[in-house]
Amino acid sequence: MIDYAAELAKYSRILEQKSLVTGLEGNASIIDRETGLTYITPSRRMKMLVEPEMIAVMDKDGNQVGGTGKRSSEYLLHEAVYKARPDVGAIVHSHCPYLTAYAIRYQDFEVPEDCSLRLVFQRFTCLPYGRNGTHDIHRGIEKALENSPICLLGGHGVVCVSTDMEDAIGLIEAAEGFAKTLYITKHN
Ligand SMILES: [Zn+2]
Repeated sequence: MIDYAAELAKYSRILEQKSLVTGLEGNASIIDRETGLTYITPSRRMKMLVEPEMIAVMDKDGNQVGGTGKRSSEYLLHEAVYKARPDVGAIVHSHCPYLTAYAIRYQDFEVPEDCSLRLVFQRFTCLPYGRNGTHDIHRGIEKALENSPICLLGGHGVVCVSTDMEDAIGLIEAAEGFAKTLYITKHN
């Protein structure tokens, strides 16, 4: 049996090591499709120090049913994606700077046509601004993730989804790395 809380605590540390999240910013979740329970990183705790018992466990109706930590304020975003996408098993939300720069400008991120990364990513759609902690934050996300594992939240950050957390981290790491490379090509 998979210990989902232990898995997420492990990946929380990895996400912070990779500078994709911090204590204050970003969050991650995984869902157990058998029980319908979602496991999400706690609010305002350094991801590096998150222990399995601190992981917030949420039931299908959005009630916290386990974990000593308070669920992330951006839980509504995760809940909306899991409801809309039965194929998604893990979500990373990051304020990683090179991709978030596009979100702050409310600009879609486009991978150039003659670039090998186009095999994995084409375009990351930027959603309009939605206030944190409200359902506005995920308005339009279903469509934005239709043909891409990543979308941008206007004025805010990045969302990456996949079947599992290892894959989601690999995707957002590659996308953020590429956004950084693109920045270097423009400023050299
Ligand atoms: Zn955020």
